[in-house]
Amino acid sequence: MDDSTGVKPTPPALNLGREALFLDFDGCLVDIAPTPDAIKVPDALPRVLQDLSARLNGALAIVSGRSLHELETFLQGFDGPMVGSHGAEARGMTAPMAHQPAGLSELQQEMASFATRSGLLYEHKSHGGAVHFRSDPAQQTLVEGFAQDLAARHGDFAVQPAKMAVELRPAGFSKDGALALLSELSAFAGRRPVYAGDDTTDEPALAWAEDHGGFGVKIGAGHSVARFRLDAPSQLRAWLMAALEG
Ligand SMILES: [Mg+2]
Repeated sequence: MDDSTGVKPTPPALNLGREALFLDFDGCLVDIAPTPDAIKVPDALPRVLQDLSARLNGALAIVSGRSLHELETFLQGFDGPMVGSHGAEARGMTAPMAHQPAGLSELQQEMASFATRSGLLYEHKSHGGAVHFRSDPAQQTLVEGFAQDLAARHGDFAVQPAKMAVELRPAGFSKDGALALLSELSAFAGRRPVYAGDDTTDEPALAWAEDHGGFGVKIGAGHSVARFRLDAPSQLRAWLMAALEG
């Protein structure tokens, strides 16, 4: 355990024959940008993931709060399993959620109107939405109160705090739940789970990896249950490249 300044060791080299790799996307594989659309995906990243997946016999998955469509667009060239919308939609395995949650469009309209009134950015998501207060952090409490009220009125959704944003996502899904489902795929079965992520949304998945014989890698500063830490997405990408060369 540590606080935000706590020192954690860097992770050991990935064991390609024994481990399975689960990777968050924003703030983990790529740097956070001022707006969600403005991220820069390194040209070589999809190829690195594809090559590493082959070396892991297919035991590499992306697990993100982004929509599956966005993940597929950003990582064109990587063909492995992907879980989007915090576990509600997936590629390469049976989709956890067959239908979009009830009241989705009404909820999204309320979020968009609130964001417009508040001068904040609304991010449309396939299974929910997010209001970003990065441009005006003083509005955090107001945004959180709005989100709690909205979730209380829309029972199929839950509040998901994120970096400088509050999101509404389908209730009953989570990244640790996604890891449990992915681990039942033949490519992942019997391997030790290794999860890397940067945000509060990743903590249950980091804990799941630690609890199932593997380990977690926290990306960036902040408290985490993970045993290991890398300071930035560039360091994670270097760690992945080193595994390829090892
Ligand atoms: Mg992230």
